[in-house]
Amino acid sequence: MVCKLCQQKYDLRESHIISEAFYEGVYDKRHRAVPISMENSELKFIQKGIREKLLCGDCEKKLSKWESILKRDLVDIGNQKSEFLTLNHIDEKLFKVEGIRYKEFKLAILSILWRMSVTSDQFFESYRLGAYEEKLRQKLLDENVTDEKKYPIMVSRYELDGVFYPGTIMGFPPGKYDQIFTVQSFIIWGHRFMIFVNDKSFPKVSIEVFLRNSGELFVDVCSLVELASPKSVLSKIYDEKVESMYARMQ
Ligand SMILES: [Zn+2]
Repeated sequence: MVCKLCQQKYDLRESHIISEAFYEGVYDKRHRAVPISMENSELKFIQKGIREKLLCGDCEKKLSKWESILKRDLVDIGNQKSEFLTLNHIDEKLFKVEGIRYKEFKLAILSILWRMSVTSDQFFESYRLGAYEEKLRQKLLDENVTDEKKYPIMVSRYELDGVFYPGTIMGFPPGKYDQIFTVQSFIIWGHRFMIFVNDKSFPKVSIEVFLRNSGELFVDVCSLVELASPKSVLSKIYDEKVESMYARMQ
């Protein structure tokens, strides 16, 4: 078995698909679980500890370095308090973050998506990326995410009655934007990441709705109740989401 990332080394580790670091909140008493029932079978809570022999030690180290930076930023964004990020509310349901370490943050998100694609675990079968799997492998290997218009990422925060649940980790079926862009998404640390899996064209919308390489990011605040309603978020069409985000930023 060869390392899925560098394709060189053979001594593989039991790699996590999603790092244990993102599950810490799940066991916190106050945030034990999301207290709503999810009737829609397409919504799935991701089980802790799904592992597979995927990566060599060096590649593991590389990914975990990016993940710890992502985690640090997410903890602060989740707490709405930071010594190194600037957080400013535009209104009650929208805020702007500045100072994100774009490169590591984006590499971490893309590496999680890529692992969801390369794993043989059936839980993640809706995350198969086809030709983009190899393209993303190259990006991760070269650590090259300089072009903010490739694989752009939108982020939403999920709350329930004003309470933030960092332990929320969920998977979603893939969706579409403008009929041509495939959008893959997942929730980790209470934030939903929507990744436009495309390196050729860019959606006809302001780049402001996505994570910028300047470290700026607009985050909208959503309710977990929306996820329990089969109609709203699960429509799998992202047009409305993107447009409403853009409209509110004006
Ligand atoms: Zn490797």
